[in-house]
Amino acid sequence: MVRIVRPPSFEAMREELGGTVRAIRYLVEAGYTTDQIVRRSGLPYHLVELYKRGIVPANRYPFREVTRYYDRIATVRSKRGKKTVLVRFFKNPNIDFATKVRLALGRIVEERTTGVGPAVVERAIAFASGRGEGQVRRVFIDYGDYGEVAYLLCGAASPRITVGEVCEAIRLLPKLRRIDERVMVVSSLLRSSVNVEARYVVHLILQDLKLGFHEATVIDAVSEALGLPPELVRQVCAIKGISDGLTLAVDGRAVLEGVKLRPGEFIRPQLAHLYEPDKVAFPCRVEWKYDGSRLQLHKWGETVVFFSRRGIEKSKTLPEVMPIIKGFNAQSCIVDSEVVALDRKGRPLSFQYMLKRTVPRELKEEVFREIRLSIKAFDILYLNGESLMDKPLRERLRFLGMVVPDEYQATAAICGDELELMDFYQEALRQGLEGIIVKDLGSVYEAGRRTYTWLKLKPERDTVDCVVVKALYGKGRRAGLYSSFELAVRHPTERKLFTIGRVANLPEGLLASIASQIDRLKTGEDREGAFVRPGIVLEVTYQEIERAKEYTSGYALRVPKFVRLRDDKTVEEIDTVKKIERLYELQYERFPAKELPEF
Ligand code: AMP
Repeated sequence: MVRIVRPPSFEAMREELGGTVRAIRYLVEAGYTTDQIVRRSGLPYHLVELYKRGIVPANRYPFREVTRYYDRIATVRSKRGKKTVLVRFFKNPNIDFATKVRLALGRIVEERTTGVGPAVVERAIAFASGRGEGQVRRVFIDYGDYGEVAYLLCGAASPRITVGEVCEAIRLLPKLRRIDERVMVVSSLLRSSVNVEARYVVHLILQDLKLGFHEATVIDAVSEALGLPPELVRQVCAIKGISDGLTLAVDGRAVLEGVKLRPGEFIRPQLAHLYEPDKVAFPCRVEWKYDGSRLQLHKWGETVVFFSRRGIEKSKTLPEVMPIIKGFNAQSCIVDSEVVALDRKGRPLSFQYMLKRTVPRELKEEVFREIRLSIKAFDILYLNGESLMDKPLRERLRFLGMVVPDEYQATAAICGDELELMDFYQEALRQGLEGIIVKDLGSVYEAGRRTYTWLKLKPERDTVDCVVVKALYGKGRRAGLYSSFELAVRHPTERKLFTIGRVANLPEGLLASIASQIDRLKTGEDREGAFVRPGIVLEVTYQEIERAKEYTSGYALRVPKFVRLRDDKTVEEIDTVKKIERLYELQYERFPAKELPEF
């Protein structure tokens, strides 16, 4: 008699092996894929991915409860009201404090991004809801927010996901190498969520809660919930960064008071936004933007320590920087700088040269002779026992001048107007620099923040040919005239257009001449301007491409500039969204997000 031996059920395996994680690990070792395990176990994909790695989400509090707070914050209009709801949230004993901080800030991961942008979310929503991607995108065009799209299209019948599950699954995303795996994890989360939860799962993944409060409100709420002075919490956040600062607050006043700016302890560096002319406060300070690596220099007595942008100690890897800092004229100090490669004549070289220093030891001698590493300091945060972070840049620079020899300071100037600024910029480019950084002389040092008080100006990249889909009315002097234009690129194969940005710097003469063309192509209008049939092709440059929700391509050209009218091109010949995607990837190729080169 033939006996059919059936494989044991997942239940049986779980019992036999002593738990779900063990059963899943057993299946992984037996060569089962995640999909197969999902089918056998009936568990959602994201949980299987977590269990496979031995991660068992600890917090079993329903995520639905957290979304109630979110909804409440969204509906309360005043800042005070939002803070009151946040205070209640921070007093909720069912979630650990660090997780509450992350949920309130909308930043679950340590990394800068979750590695999932609108494009992946779109695919995940399509997958979870069983709709086509085109359909999902159409809903997005109507609502302008993928959270709303998920709310409308996704949703399990009853809530069951937990806070732990949501947070751990999101934390897993940047660690997944394949896009498909990320799509599967996100869609699995969405499938396990009821529609309100799906909205906020998407917002957390895209790191924008859209609840209308600022970080300062979260600081105030934490202070109130814990009965701490807000200034103290604010000060700790400035040193530690907001996430770590708030998390530390739960340890109490004594611990917070012990957090002092002191040499040896890394401070999160301030970062710059892209240059926008109307954000500059003249007179301003302009500095060469060196193409090296950020280095925070700490000195006290004879001890010198330095940290990379992400707080990794570099004291051992950069021996030749050591004597430079030892020579600083200070008992103790923290100086912000860029470490750069210089050629024999002392001219700055690009980042690529610095990487050459990682060549095998035997080759190093030769490289060392050709390429010298040096420091270009541009800020000072601490001097002889005192923090300078709250002092205006103008004053900090005075101290910097006293501490750091000229040779080791960034080349800089004060500019009274845009003309002077552009001259300085052109000169920096002629000298082979990457660009310039424009700084507000009255600004304090804002640790860990990207601010408009620092603006980076770099040359534009490639050009993109796009088509005008909307002409927008101007304001002030240009009221009643079309003055800026919404641009779109095309689908690679279908007759579809996707918006990508708005350009405003068309020369006056051209503005006048295309106005009549626009009136001819006009298909409708709203308060902002006129919708036009695609017919006017423009070539534009840009400084960066960013992921963006406000445009249907999922990308935005940052600081787009008009180059010329392409009346030799038709809509069929403009660039595609695929090219934009490629350009987006290429611009980060040199600095892959996850593996910043460590020299
Ligand atoms: P980015 O990496 O393009 O966002 O540009 C900002 C980076 O430029 C900073 O983090 C620094 O590493 C670098 N940098 C080079 N020169 C300067 C400068 N003079 N001031 C500030 N940052 C600078």
